[in-house]
Amino acid sequence: MTETFAHAPSAAPTPTAPDAAFTDLPWVQRFAALGPDFVATLSPSPLPAPYWVGRNNALAFDMGLPEAWASSDALLQTFTGNHVPKGTAQTASVYSGHQFGVWAGQLGDGRACSLGELAGLQVQLKGAGPTPFSRRGDGRAVLRSSIREFLCSEAMHALGVPTTRALCVTGSDAPVWREERETAAVVTRVAQSFVRFGHFEHFSHGQQHAQLKTLADYVIAHFYPACRHGAQEGANPYAALLAQVTQRTAEVVAHWQSVGFCHGVMNTDNMSILGLTLDYGPFQFLDAYDPAHICNHSDTQGRYAFYKQPNVAYWNLYCLGQALLPLIDDQEQAIAALETFKTHYPQALAARFAAKLGFAQAHDTQKPLIEAALKLLAQDRVDFTIFWRRLSHWAAAMDPADTSVRDLFMDRAGADALLTLFRALHEQSDGGSPASVLARMLRTNPKYVLRNHLGELAIRAAKDKDFSVLQALQTVLAQPFDEHPSHEAWAGFAPDWAAGIEISCSS
Ligand code: AMP
Ligand code: MG
Repeated sequence: MTETFAHAPSAAPTPTAPDAAFTDLPWVQRFAALGPDFVATLSPSPLPAPYWVGRNNALAFDMGLPEAWASSDALLQTFTGNHVPKGTAQTASVYSGHQFGVWAGQLGDGRACSLGELAGLQVQLKGAGPTPFSRRGDGRAVLRSSIREFLCSEAMHALGVPTTRALCVTGSDAPVWREERETAAVVTRVAQSFVRFGHFEHFSHGQQHAQLKTLADYVIAHFYPACRHGAQEGANPYAALLAQVTQRTAEVVAHWQSVGFCHGVMNTDNMSILGLTLDYGPFQFLDAYDPAHICNHSDTQGRYAFYKQPNVAYWNLYCLGQALLPLIDDQEQAIAALETFKTHYPQALAARFAAKLGFAQAHDTQKPLIEAALKLLAQDRVDFTIFWRRLSHWAAAMDPADTSVRDLFMDRAGADALLTLFRALHEQSDGGSPASVLARMLRTNPKYVLRNHLGELAIRAAKDKDFSVLQALQTVLAQPFDEHPSHEAWAGFAPDWAAGIEISCSS
């Protein structure tokens, strides 16, 4: 098969011949092979004169892309949707879902074009034009939201939070209309699988039980083989799947809560069957700690406020359980699988906060300390990331004369009481030497997170075709526990103008 530049529009530049090194990548089509009940074939709509906005060399290396990928025009065109390399497919998958608590019916990949799998990772072009599931949307993504997704997925990965990854962003000056005129971009995102709770809801709601089973068997075979092979004789593999997804979801949400990550649109169509953070839209890392914080300006009811995320995850798992019921065929088993959330989530959260506090293991005695810390942080609206990082350094000597933590609070007496409690618990525990406590805390409490205003700095520069801020942020966020003294300002408090950044679903 020869390489073709499909669907080149008159506005697009004449494509150059694809670089030989990239024509034989070992693409695999496992999901697309499920067939037309699951995916629709499409043609990506090219964008004129694409340029690189951001690239992730470490991920490219892991995926087996040649080192010179950055200089490959073929790859620039491929990751913009302008060029269709040998071995790729162009598909969008169908799913449904509950949005803001209400059944929304059929949704599907409205702007994501899947190319297939490389090195075990599905590759999707987000923003490559309309698909059969675009409904009223334009199939595009804007530069602003693409940069946010690119930076945040890699920042989350570096924090150790399960997430979809981002390989690159390409841009084009083609206009895209949102609240105002913006320009187009394409994020190439990758994950072992992009299957969502909503995929199961789709086939269940439509009474397509054969397809529901095909999908569940696909997910079990590729990602949860123990649900079939490790299960006891007679045990239901679909109930085992539900239990596994419940556990992974509990873990990822506990991780979010521990780093102050607000997802913003936890609709069931944005919930990964692998427990990955998926669909970066109006997300935000908390600056000041406010458990009731709503990061999505479209979420007028506050359904997805920060503190509600665990409950919403549980609600979403119930939707998944309902969808799997025709396969589990036993309500008791489904409920038993879902109920495990009530133990997994608190355990996962306790483990995260134990580490944040410098303890080797979670223990019930830490609960009053965690509660006191969160209560005081909320009361004084203290910066979440800065508090934990300063506490980490304070723990090295636990010296009351070191006022770095107490200075963060209006309530100085409250802060002193908190630090006293912290020190007392460490004295009672066998958490190790101050040096080991410090080391544990410094690798758990990041110095750098992708605060909204940092993303905004990268976006503003990128709009002027200056990608240096994005690159520097990318480098810092890839090692968020390191000091990076030359970027100290990015570890500081959010400036006043950060409060004016409005993030909505519009992306
Ligand atoms: P989201 O709120 O981003 O999770 O998207 C919800 C649904 O809308 C999904 O089916 C998306 O594929 C679709 N969608 C979002 N933005 C667009 C767009 N610009 N064009 C087409 N479909 C879109
Ligand atoms: Mg979505």
